[in-house]
Amino acid sequence: MNKGKKLYEGKAKIIYSTNNKHLVIQHFKDDATAFNNLKKSKVEGKGVLNNRISEHILSNLEQCGIKTHLVKRLNMREQLIRRAEIIPIEFIVRNIASGSLTKRLGIPEGTILEKPLLEYCLKNDALQDPIVSKEHIFNFEWATKNEIKEIDKITLRINDILTGLFRGIGIKLVDFKIEYGKAWNKDKDENEIVLADEISPDTCRLWDSKTEKKLDKDRFRKDLGNIIEGYQEVARRLGIMPEISNVKEVNFKKPSSIKFKKK
Ligand code: UDP
Repeated sequence: MNKGKKLYEGKAKIIYSTNNKHLVIQHFKDDATAFNNLKKSKVEGKGVLNNRISEHILSNLEQCGIKTHLVKRLNMREQLIRRAEIIPIEFIVRNIASGSLTKRLGIPEGTILEKPLLEYCLKNDALQDPIVSKEHIFNFEWATKNEIKEIDKITLRINDILTGLFRGIGIKLVDFKIEYGKAWNKDKDENEIVLADEISPDTCRLWDSKTEKKLDKDRFRKDLGNIIEGYQEVARRLGIMPEISNVKEVNFKKPSSIKFKKK
């Protein structure tokens, strides 16, 4: 697989073309941003950890029948993914009140929600990703009724799978954000909806089940320190990189199930 030119650079990732028009390479950077880019910093090793954690989670979801953009991890910082036309909505699932929900509606932090709450935000940095209703989505044709129906179902299933996966390693899944896109399915010769996003401590709130210690990007947002240690703890409990105490460019032991192609 040849790496081509840079197609897009976002806050935490870069996308490169490949010699296959249906595949692109996703590179995980160490950059951390919060509060709509007002707070920025480099967190050394974050990209490496998110690459591994997200690969692990998306592979688990694939095993449960969820379609994702992930093809395979290529190296420490890169994944080969299916090219997808991104639906411009951030899908947020909340199990416990935190973050913007507490600020917007005054719900006390830590309130356990009776059932998962699904929110939609428009992907638009200039407008600070405003929350929108389904009516906005349909009216402005950001997605169709059928697409949202399908995505809602997949999103709640992902929440069930991830809640169980994290509970098994002593972590509460407080909330998370995911995005979807339309990617070409070569067997069916048509586009299909796929999960087209990372799932990592950058995009989830993860609290230790007993102590409620934050193991996610809130360590950066709230200046709690030890950001990378939180991410490493998640990776360690997921059973990936158990031997690692330092995530600078070191050679990890390859899991036997993963074909690891060096560029
Ligand atoms: N989130 C994200 N990217 C965004 C906005 C939110 O990954 O652009 C995640 C965030 O990490 C949290 C969940 O979505 O796990 C809910 O975030 P919230 O609406 O509380 O926003 P915040 O106040 O954290 O920006």
